[in-house]
Amino acid sequence: MTAYDAIIIGTGQAGPPLARRMAGLGMRVAIIERGRFGGTCINTGCTPTKTLVASAYAVHVARRGADFGFSAGDVTVDMKRVKARKDHVVGLSNRGVERSLRNLENCRVYEAHARFVSPHEVQAGGEVLTSDRIFINVGARAKTPDIPGLDQVDYLNNSSMMDVDFLPRHLLVLGGSYIGLEFGQMYRRFGSEVSIVELGPRLVSREDEDVSAAITDILVREGITVVRSANCLHINKQGDDIVMTVDCGGTSELRGSHLLVAAGRRPNTDDLGLDRAGVKRDERGYIVVDDELRTSVPGIWALGDCNGKGGFTHTSWNDYEIVAANLFDGESRRVSDRIPAYALYIDPPLARVGMSEADVRKSGRPALIGKLAMEDVSRAFEKGETEGFMKILVDAETKEILGASFLGTSSDEAVHCVLDTMYARAPYTLLKRAMHIHPTVAEFIPTMLGDLVPLPNSAAG
Ligand SMILES: Cc1cc2nc3c(=O)[nH]c(=O)nc-3n(C[C@H](O)[C@H](O)[C@H](O)COP(=O)(O)OP(=O)(O)OC[C@H]3O[C@@H](n4cnc5c(N)ncnc54)[C@H](O)[C@@H]3O)c2cc1C
Repeated sequence: MTAYDAIIIGTGQAGPPLARRMAGLGMRVAIIERGRFGGTCINTGCTPTKTLVASAYAVHVARRGADFGFSAGDVTVDMKRVKARKDHVVGLSNRGVERSLRNLENCRVYEAHARFVSPHEVQAGGEVLTSDRIFINVGARAKTPDIPGLDQVDYLNNSSMMDVDFLPRHLLVLGGSYIGLEFGQMYRRFGSEVSIVELGPRLVSREDEDVSAAITDILVREGITVVRSANCLHINKQGDDIVMTVDCGGTSELRGSHLLVAAGRRPNTDDLGLDRAGVKRDERGYIVVDDELRTSVPGIWALGDCNGKGGFTHTSWNDYEIVAANLFDGESRRVSDRIPAYALYIDPPLARVGMSEADVRKSGRPALIGKLAMEDVSRAFEKGETEGFMKILVDAETKEILGASFLGTSSDEAVHCVLDTMYARAPYTLLKRAMHIHPTVAEFIPTMLGDLVPLPNSAAG
């Protein structure tokens, strides 16, 4: 048995910085990885998808050459080279994480599947490691929904999509949320026929209805078939085709060459020996943690997607910051202090911070709203990218910003001035008076804040 000051399971977004921090403090650290260094974001999540989105965007702009005064001729896509570019970018990050851990003084890397043996012991391959401090950063994987016939066909998920170096003739996408929409739009731009099938009544159902509607319009205008409220789903193989029945009468069906299942994620907590350690999970398998990411067992923490508190790279990284600040800097940081923030990287992107309009209505508080079409934003107009809108909500009494939904060009960057104002707990009037650079998307945020109206049908409306 080998004793360490700390054991980290998983090299996702939280594990490696925590290893660096603790090893830097002179602690003896073991970090265990069963798969690829850097976890989901680097290998099968953010990095590859945003690299592919960039290729798809370039293709899209080339096809729109006439709008900008040039002709790129007949634009064809070489999927082998698209994939090679993606592999290159992923490889840089993946190797960077591995190298940094292997070269880290006081840190030993184990390449093995880790399982708890007891609250203080973890088996990694043939070795048992022991420590009073164990950090779980095991992430999540694609969920396989229970749909009749799915087990009879070959299907893709976010991981196996990474090996695709050809153009699917017709990509069926099961799941109309973030992952499905990003893949759907990029493959449409590469040249595939694409159909997106969503069980619920609208795409990205956690967003406001106007956001879902605008996103659906954008995708449909690009030639994507969107099926919502799909019922009695059934999948089968007919010749080379995958056929999806999407209504209970069995009359509506979609026929494609490939199927991508993007129907949610499940935490990698089912084969970790958590029972032997006494670490509690909730009914969906997420590790139960408190506001400081401590599990039900003293000396064991859970960070990142496996704790169900985030689901994004920045939330996992923020988990690391919280744990490190509390353990080593004498601070008292909590998960509940952070403001929800994320983006959906279709083009144009959707950036979301804080509460949605629906959340604000539900809260019953008096609120003000500002909304501006991207058509009225000069930078968007100049770039020829005028789809979408920006929406911001403010508490009518405290004057604090409650949330924003920005769907439009550069909105993933522009939204940060709203987010930082929210973190500062400053009144919206501060941002309203800020002088922003012209021409930017962000310059219209003070303008919007100058034109707030009571939120209709709310306590202030
Ligand atoms: C297609 C896609 C696109 C995404 N795009 C974005 C985006 O644009 N922005 C964003 O913020 N987020 C995005 N995400 C989400 C983001 O990737 C995750 O939230 C993030 O990677 C979570 O990191 P993590 O630290 O929880 O763990 P992970 O990165 O999942 O890493 C966990 C690691 O633990 C290892 N492991 C698991 N079990 C064991 C075990 N028993 N023993 C040893 N090792 C183990 C795994 O092999 C893995 O390397 C995307 C996700 C997907 C799937």
